[in-house]
Amino acid sequence: MKIVENSVALIDYTLTDNEGTVIDSSEGAGPLAYLHGAGNIIEGLEEALLGKEAGAEVKASIEPAKGYGERNDDMQQEVPKELFGGVENIEVGMQFQSETDQGPVMVTVVAMNDEMVTVDGNHPLAGVHLNFDVTIREVREATAEELEHGHVHGDGGHQH
Ligand code: ZN
Repeated sequence: MKIVENSVALIDYTLTDNEGTVIDSSEGAGPLAYLHGAGNIIEGLEEALLGKEAGAEVKASIEPAKGYGERNDDMQQEVPKELFGGVENIEVGMQFQSETDQGPVMVTVVAMNDEMVTVDGNHPLAGVHLNFDVTIREVREATAEELEHGHVHGDGGHQH
């Protein structure tokens, strides 16, 4: 069957940036299972996989707008170092969960001096052009329970 709204698809994938650096891959972890139309995967990849069948190999080149969004410089802010009171040896590249008005956001330390730490709330892949190499392993209909939960159960999905 073809991938349509409410299909469950198992995919093997490799994700690279425009320099050919591998950002993510299903190798080792096994195929990823997703529920089509539920926002489990980025919009651009759903568009590329729609209508494809098991066995198909799909290459998708995805602009940031249909991936993890453009970078937003307003999401960088300086915060006083003392707010990280419990953390010793803060370093550039460290990630923290930050409570915001929009809920918890993962922020990355991008710069610091003696008093202030600059954190960036952009998704690490914001502004990155994404190149997916996908092989579709299996396509099936979602169960009623999966549709209710908005994700896949079992191999490659949620185990609960
Ligand atoms: Zn569930």
